[in-house]
Amino acid sequence: MTKKRILLKLSGETLLGEQGFGIHQDACMQVASYLQKIQQLNMEVGVVIGGGNIFRGIDLRLTGMPRTPADHMGMLATLLNGIAVQQALIARGAKACVMSALECPKVAEPYNWTKALQYLSEGNIVIFVGGTGNPYFTTDTAAALRASEIHANMLLKATKVDGVYNKDPLKYPDAVKYERISYSRVLAEKLQVMDATAIALCRSSQIPIFVFNMQRLLEDDIGQVLTDFTHGTLIEEGE
Ligand code: UDP
Repeated sequence: MTKKRILLKLSGETLLGEQGFGIHQDACMQVASYLQKIQQLNMEVGVVIGGGNIFRGIDLRLTGMPRTPADHMGMLATLLNGIAVQQALIARGAKACVMSALECPKVAEPYNWTKALQYLSEGNIVIFVGGTGNPYFTTDTAAALRASEIHANMLLKATKVDGVYNKDPLKYPDAVKYERISYSRVLAEKLQVMDATAIALCRSSQIPIFVFNMQRLLEDDIGQVLTDFTHGTLIEEGE
């Protein structure tokens, strides 16, 4: 049976653990454990990791810093996270490599499409860091880009809530969750799930996006979480 290939987008906050800032070793081990479980479902696994647990360009800009260096700091933060997850995976006996869009060759191999495909097919969990390598983008867009490039069957977006709602469920108790929704509707209604560039790229590459609560990866049978889409919201082609 041909293996499915997925791209999992994890925000940097996933690595916070109980802390308010930085990387928590237990959280890295937990992430590593569910990445391995996903791989054991006969899937090739790519991961794009964010940097929000350390720096977000937007926050630094509030201090008056210009956007480009602020975003450089944000992208560098994703390298720290990627290395932490790679080392947790290796400690658990998995094969894992880090490829960076922001060239830093002594630290992480520069991103290369051919090699990424090779590493995936050889059973490595490939962690893509450095975002897109450009300021003014987000790691959500990097996830859509890498998912498109590696021809992922699906982009998995783990979030703090359990899907896409018509309004912020953390603020509005009457918010309604969508089980399925089209890319175009997410864009038209400006639903806050991923930035518009990421959604538009997935739409043009026809990559379905499954949005779900990352807690489910920790608590539930991962096979069920990734096949029973009622646990979250599936964004795909539609009306
Ligand atoms: N970033 C960037 N270009 C990219 C991806 C990320 O400049 O292609 C910067 C940006 O400053 C962003 C930070 O890296 O705020 C961390 O990424 P993100 O905010 O997407 O992380 P997450 O919220 O997923 O942890």
